[in-house]
Amino acid sequence: MSESVSESVERTWKDECGVVGVWNNEHASRLSYLSLYAIQHRGQESAGIVTVDASGEHRVQKGLGLVQEVFDDVSLDRLAGRAAIGHVRYSTTGVNQMANAQPMQANLFNGPVAVAHNGNIVNANEIKKRLKEDGAIFHATSDTEVILHLVARHHSSNLVECLQAGLEELDGAYSLTVLSHQSLIAARDPYGFRPLVLGTLKNGDGEKSWIVASETCAFDLIGAQFVREIEPGEIWWVDASGEHSIKMKKKRERASCIFEHVYFARPDSIVFGQSVYGVRKEAGRRLAEQDEKEGFLKDVDLVIPVPDSGVPSALGYSVQSGKPFELGIIRNHYIGRTFIQPHQAIRDFGVKIKLNPQTSVLSGKRVVVIDDSLVRGTTSKKILQLVRAAGAKEVHLRIAAPPTIGPCYYGVDTPEKSQLIASSQSVESIAKFVGADSLRYLDLAGLKEAVQGQNGGYCAACFDGKYPTDLFGLDRNPKGHLRGIDA
Ligand code: AMP
Repeated sequence: MSESVSESVERTWKDECGVVGVWNNEHASRLSYLSLYAIQHRGQESAGIVTVDASGEHRVQKGLGLVQEVFDDVSLDRLAGRAAIGHVRYSTTGVNQMANAQPMQANLFNGPVAVAHNGNIVNANEIKKRLKEDGAIFHATSDTEVILHLVARHHSSNLVECLQAGLEELDGAYSLTVLSHQSLIAARDPYGFRPLVLGTLKNGDGEKSWIVASETCAFDLIGAQFVREIEPGEIWWVDASGEHSIKMKKKRERASCIFEHVYFARPDSIVFGQSVYGVRKEAGRRLAEQDEKEGFLKDVDLVIPVPDSGVPSALGYSVQSGKPFELGIIRNHYIGRTFIQPHQAIRDFGVKIKLNPQTSVLSGKRVVVIDDSLVRGTTSKKILQLVRAAGAKEVHLRIAAPPTIGPCYYGVDTPEKSQLIASSQSVESIAKFVGADSLRYLDLAGLKEAVQGQNGGYCAACFDGKYPTDLFGLDRNPKGHLRGIDA
């Protein structure tokens, strides 16, 4: 794939990870598979499921690729057992992808343990260095292996005690599902950076199964009922004696990732207690309100979203502004990971194969284009060029979030700071770069008001540069955030 094609279609950075867990269901592997399928948007590099079979042994299937590529009927049948955890991982480059595929497993003092992790542990390098000096052997480059090592160091037959002791040493973001031969555990860091939710499913025999997932859209697919969030700093587990919960000693102010609402999570999920769709629509409404107040609501003909990420916000903008909502850009949903390139260079082929602006809608029109976020500006630039080429007379870009000025160190794989266009350029010069007649962002106060659901408690470091944790030198790494930590 040429550079431009791979950049615009697959982008150089991707989503974070997604985790699931199932307890007490004869179809544990299939329910995990379906749940992973629902949260595939959180990671497309690898997928994996570990089950615990009747003899207490772990069974595992992991592979590179999408959920439907990694599992088939035969492998799901082989994953016998009534309990399971699963993981989808996002793309990175330059690291041994298979060694980093999750869940990660180890045979510890207290039996087989498997871990699936979403988030990024900021002090993993420090801990890894210390453990290596002490003789520990690491196989992967990701921070998740550190968790297994820390658990292994605490010699108690009570796995939850070992896990708690290990987790108290970590700083940063982790939403975990953990499977032993006796229990399913779910744990979330004291800041509550990444989402993690608990649900139940009625079994045919009148008993109930427990389901844990990164997002509630997984529950919808398998018919599970949402019970509650796993709380920040909570370790919840279920075993033969029922469900239990403890709180970690470390207390922190809640700092849930606001970017989950802006971009990552599926719009049909409830994240941090609030509908993602509702937040995005409200962000778009506020964007129009802000335009109105500041005298920037243009004399325009249409509001169009960048599909799919800008759709709910464009609806909100349209409702508030009274300007008609139109699908001015149509998205092809069947773009695979690779495709055969045309023999001759086609201008903007990489964007065109995915997004096709409609001349019949856009020709001669003054258009407001809405997207959820603007990171490097390169995608917007190409999209706006196409919109203009389709005949739009004026193109006004509106972003339903503030300018992205800082990389994420908590599990969102963002480009390094120097590539974040808003970290060094004014709104006017970004408008020029992307070729917009005007550009406006939703301000941070407006976005925070749109996520009122949990009364604050958000990390918005990508927008305000205020990182809730020490960064342990990660900010001095020229590559910005790297989830695959190679200490
Ligand atoms: P760009 O400004 O060209 O870097 O890309 C902005 C576009 O990328 C927007 O349409 C967003 O929906 C999308 N986007 C924002 N953050 C991410 C991310 N971490 N991974 C993938 N796409 C993203």
